Amino acid sequence: MMTIATIWEEFLQIIKQEAGSRVVDTWFKAVTLREWNASHHTVTLTVPNQFVCDWIKSHYTTLMATHLSRLLHVSTVKLAFRVMDHEVAEAQLIEPVLSTSTPVVIERSAAQETRSSSVAPLVKKRSAINSTYTFETFVVGPSNSLAYAACQAVAQSPGNTYNPIFLYGGSGLGKTHLLHAIGNKVKELNPNAVVLYQTVDRFVNEFIHAIRFDKTYLFQERYKSVDLLLIDDIQFISNKEQTQEAFFNIFNTLYDCKKQIVFTSDTVPQDIKGLAERLRSRLAWGLVADLSMPSLETKIAILKKKAESSSCQGYELNDDVAHFIASQVVGNIRELEGALIRVIAFASLTGKAITLDLAHQVLGKEHTVNSSLVVDFSQVARCLGNHYPYSLQDLRSKDRNKELSFVRQLAMFFMKKLTDKSLRDIGSFLGGRDHSTVLHAIDKVQGQINNDDLLRHRLHVIEKEIISSSG
Ligand code: ADP
Ligand code: MG
Repeated sequence: MMTIATIWEEFLQIIKQEAGSRVVDTWFKAVTLREWNASHHTVTLTVPNQFVCDWIKSHYTTLMATHLSRLLHVSTVKLAFRVMDHEVAEAQLIEPVLSTSTPVVIERSAAQETRSSSVAPLVKKRSAINSTYTFETFVVGPSNSLAYAACQAVAQSPGNTYNPIFLYGGSGLGKTHLLHAIGNKVKELNPNAVVLYQTVDRFVNEFIHAIRFDKTYLFQERYKSVDLLLIDDIQFISNKEQTQEAFFNIFNTLYDCKKQIVFTSDTVPQDIKGLAERLRSRLAWGLVADLSMPSLETKIAILKKKAESSSCQGYELNDDVAHFIASQVVGNIRELEGALIRVIAFASLTGKAITLDLAHQVLGKEHTVNSSLVVDFSQVARCLGNHYPYSLQDLRSKDRNKELSFVRQLAMFFMKKLTDKSLRDIGSFLGGRDHSTVLHAIDKVQGQINNDDLLRHRLHVIEKEIISSSG
């Protein structure tokens, strides 16, 4: 029996394949499937605000109706949108096209993200390098610095430092970006270099095509003629023995000729299932570097850089807005960009400036501070005083003993979390401290909570006390 949660999960997977993960992260992640009324054939969807609602309705109605009706085993579905608390009165009746001979035409965004598994095209042309994914547009932080440095090194001197490089990490953390960055840099330094970027999916498709037309020799020759081979998502080669064999061959030739090879994957080589042992060992021959979830500070830097870039029309995000968006997105960098794009799209369509209020409005009320709750700074200090031996005066003082500094950081953390005040307001309330000190404190506390169950529990109790003593 499928629950509505699993139906929605499945639906998101389909949208991801058909329209790309950027569409999912930018628009559909903000939507929840609330209810399925089988007798009225009505699907109720909750959206954070009218803007997302209108956008989804005008761009994705057919797509939604088609797939939801199929997943729910009915011929038509009505889509009812509920904008947070107040329901939108209108419900649209949509007759989806069920005949498979009339495929729905779907907008394809960010082609490099789209994995077309259902319709396997016999790709013959080489994938292009995306010129926007460069080292200059990549923000370096503790979560990716090793991978970044390694990629820089091989781009400067391909084949001579680490070979191969194996980058791994969760989805949306910058692996593909770094791969293209190497390609761009190598082309810049040596315009004659033959650079080939290929996803493993395409590699497999091409290989199958070559076998079918008896051209495996040509296929291998073509790969062996490159100077730099960038292979994305190598984990998808698992259980494909013949392709692995061909790839092994190509690898050896390139390696022996000192041609640079770079791989990405979602896990370390040891954990890729269904991989021939000898290929597995080759993958780990050079340097293996990981990309992990960025800290709050790195997320903020990414948002600012992205907003300033030409693709986002050169907006300037102030610290509070950047902090707010970064703290709302618990997911990966792609989702972070999705949230930013929603905010910028809203601002540009309504002609408003990007303020904290506007970001609250776009990213949904569920994320914002409960407006009926009025927490003020002194309440935070008072409740902390019940758990730690420090008064508000201590928190404001210049004294930096270890425990007091920690409690001061907790105060900053709660003040940001439970009020809608700015970093600057918080800093100045706590003895005229700088907003970057506040930001650093919040980041640090967040990191500690993630790693320390006891502290998390304790802070949860304190948070409840602050809330119950307020408003
Ligand atoms: P992956 O291949 O690991 O799934 P991508 O390389 O596709 O992830 O990254 C997802 C998005 O996040 C891209 O738009 C990329 O430009 C952006 N991104 C990831 N890491 C960074 C970073 N450190 N600095 C700037 N943008 C980043
Ligand atoms: Mg990728």
